[in-house]
Amino acid sequence: MTNPTIFPALSIPDTLAAGPGPGNTDARVLAAFARAGVADHMQADVLRGLIECKHMLRSLFGTRNIHTFGVGGSGWSGLDCMLSAIGPGDTVVCFANGTFSGIDALTVRMKAATREELAADPMNPQPASVTVVTVPHGQSVTAEVVDGALAVHRPKWAVMAHWETGSGRVNDLRGFSDACERHGVMGLVDAVSSLGVADFSIDDYPGVHGWASCPQKGVLCLPMTYAPVSFTDRYIAEVRRTGVATYVHHPVLEARHWGVIDGQDVPTPVYHRTHSAYAIAAFHEALRLTLEHGRAAKARDYATYEAALRWAVERMGCTVTSNMTSLVVMNLPPALAGREKEMVQRCRAEGFGIWPTLSEPVQVRVGILNQLNEAALADIVARLAAAMTALGAAIDTPAVMDGLARRFHTALAAE
Ligand SMILES: *Cc1c(COP(=O)(O)O)cnc(C)c1O
Repeated sequence: MTNPTIFPALSIPDTLAAGPGPGNTDARVLAAFARAGVADHMQADVLRGLIECKHMLRSLFGTRNIHTFGVGGSGWSGLDCMLSAIGPGDTVVCFANGTFSGIDALTVRMKAATREELAADPMNPQPASVTVVTVPHGQSVTAEVVDGALAVHRPKWAVMAHWETGSGRVNDLRGFSDACERHGVMGLVDAVSSLGVADFSIDDYPGVHGWASCPQKGVLCLPMTYAPVSFTDRYIAEVRRTGVATYVHHPVLEARHWGVIDGQDVPTPVYHRTHSAYAIAAFHEALRLTLEHGRAAKARDYATYEAALRWAVERMGCTVTSNMTSLVVMNLPPALAGREKEMVQRCRAEGFGIWPTLSEPVQVRVGILNQLNEAALADIVARLAAAMTALGAAIDTPAVMDGLARRFHTALAAE
C-alpha cells in the first residue's frame, strides 16, 4: 500500500460573517452542540428534542400546519422537499428576481420536465409546462406581476421567494397569496431569508401551501442542522394523491421521524433517517433563542440596525438598492465603481466576510445577521470605511462614526 495522505489538523479562523448568510452562530447554540451526549437517533431525549423543535417551529412559522418539521441540510434541502410535489408535466409559474429565485426556477424546471425535456438539456431543461417570469435585479416581485401571470397561465403551482437575498429585495407575499387564491393556484414560497428575521405568520397567507427555509440565516444554527418546512393539509393531500419521486425528502414520510403520522401528532416517532443528537440540541437551542427574543422584537431590531447601516453607507457615498432588513445591497461611490469585487476580496482576506452579488450587476452585500447591537454595527461600519479608504475613497470616517453613535443615542433616548 502506498503511504496514505494525511494532512495537519484543519484549523479555521474566527471571522465576522457579515454577508447575506450564514450569520455568526450564537455561543449558546455552539455550547448546546458541544454539550450533547452521545446518543443515537431513536434515544428518548433525542426524540423528545425533535418533537419539541416541531412545536417551536410551528410558533416560529405562526402555523397550525401539522406537517411542520426540519429537513436535514441547508436551505436547498428544505426547498427540494417543498418542490418535490412538482412532477413531470406539471404547470408552474415561477417568479425570479435574483440569484436564489433563479435557482428555485431551475429546480422547478428540473422537476417539471418530462424525461425527453430533461434529456434535451439535462443541466438547464426548458419544459413547456413551466413559465419563468423574470423581474429585473434590484426590483421586487409585485402583486400586479403575479396576478397578471397567474391570470394568463392558470398553472397548478406558483413559486416565489419571499425575500430574494441575491438582490436584497422583499417580494409581495400578500399579493402572491391573494393571486394564488383568486386563480386557484397552489403557492409555494422560498422563505429561506425571511424566517426568523421578518415578523409574519404563514397561516395569514392561505394561498400559499408550502414553505421552506434554512438553518443558518434568521434561525442562526449553522452547525448544519435543519431547514424548516411547513405544508398545509391541501398540499399533503396532493402529495398523497400524486406521490413524489423521493424517499429522503418526502414531505409525508420524512415527517414521521418528527412524530407526524397519518396527519396526527403522535408521541412515538418512526425511523425515517439518522438524526444527530448534536444537531438536534443545537437546533433546539437556536429556536429557544429566537422565540425568547420574540418574533416581533427581533424584526424591530433588524429594522433598527439595518436603517443605521443604510444611513452610514449612504453617508459614505454608496447607493442602497435593497429593502430587506438583514442585508444592505449597494453600489459603491462613483469613484470606486467597477472595484466591487476587489473591495470584497480585500475585506474577506482580513476576516470581514462580506459578499458581492452572485449575478450581474456587481454590487456589494453587507449583512447583519446576529449583529444586533451598537458595538457590532459600529465594527461593521468602521471596517467598511477602512476598506473604502484603502481603495482611495475620501471618507470622513470620524464624522460617519460620530453620526452613527448619535443616531443610536437619539433612538435609545426616544424609547
Ligand atoms: C441562501 C438562500 C438559499 C439557499 O440556501 P442554502 O442554505 O445555501 O442551501 C435559497 N433561497 C434563498 C432566498 C436564500 O437566501
